[in-house]
Amino acid sequence: AKESGKNNYQFYAEGMNASAVNFLLLENDLRRAIEQDQLTLFYQPQFDLQTDSLVGMEALVRWQHPERGLVSPAHFIPLAEETGLIVQLSEWVLRRACEQQKTWLKSGRYAGKVAVNLSPRQFRQANFPERVAEILADTGLPATHLELEITESSAMEHASETINMMNVLNQMGISLAIDDFGTGYSSLAYLKRFPIHKLKIDRSFICDVATNQNDAAIAKSIINLAHNMSLNVVAEGVEYDNQAKWLRERGCDQVQGFFYAKPMSAEQIEQHLVHGGFE
Ligand code: C2E
Ligand code: CA
Ligand code: CA
Ligand code: CA
Repeated sequence: AKESGKNNYQFYAEGMNASAVNFLLLENDLRRAIEQDQLTLFYQPQFDLQTDSLVGMEALVRWQHPERGLVSPAHFIPLAEETGLIVQLSEWVLRRACEQQKTWLKSGRYAGKVAVNLSPRQFRQANFPERVAEILADTGLPATHLELEITESSAMEHASETINMMNVLNQMGISLAIDDFGTGYSSLAYLKRFPIHKLKIDRSFICDVATNQNDAAIAKSIINLAHNMSLNVVAEGVEYDNQAKWLRERGCDQVQGFFYAKPMSAEQIEQHLVHGGFE
């Protein structure tokens, strides 16, 4: 019945609360958004904390809704996950990010990696590596310029499948990062077996890192854990100079956050790419 269109909203409205109706309206809209190219990617730069040089960019999806304006992924990603639309949405994101990165590479404007967020559902598709290989082949982006982010909780949930999938992607030359690290329940035995390159410390620990002893202890442990495993460590959500200073002094490798740069459209990014750096 969900597929039968607009006239059915009333029918649902009678038995459902407002948020459920909203959900259905959004689901239809989202389906259309993917088809009609209303999605767009923003990019948030990542910097080396010691040299301040640009090392990567995370692609973050946005929805330019005709009536609602710019809709945050925090609102529609969970909806997309629940309805299965996430698979289609994620493919669009991956393809678009690879196309853009290839364009930047070709023009010599940016030679780093583009990081793309993976949904748990997408990551569990058996043919996922083939889908990625196809997108890389179509866009001409070398695998070494792609990084895939998977959240700690989804990586740990199906750990043995995750290891297999990660091994295949790793062998293709793709970098792997564990996102939102510290918010899930990591088994160190599994973490050791993941062929990953990076841990991203979740923003919730970075907010008060310079002033809260517990957050500081957690952040410090994650930095040490990463380094003991020969992984790079990135702090996300850095908004203030004192956070950056704290992280630099503890040897954190990279940062991402409003203090350095907000997520921006590709056009805005290009205005910052000058003299081989990010200004
Ligand atoms: P995330 O992967 O943890 O992405 C980081 C989020 O933190 C982004 O929110 C970014 O704009 C925000 N952020 C970055 N620096 C700062 C800062 O200094 N302060 C604050 N307050 N926030 C900061 P955004 O773009 O709204 O994305 C939210 C979440 O939506 C992402 O969290 C990710 O889980 C999901 N998401 C975004 N794009 C995609 C996508 O293409 N695919 C999938 N599967 N999920 C996505
Ligand atoms: Ca992410
Ligand atoms: Ca994150
Ligand atoms: Ca996060």
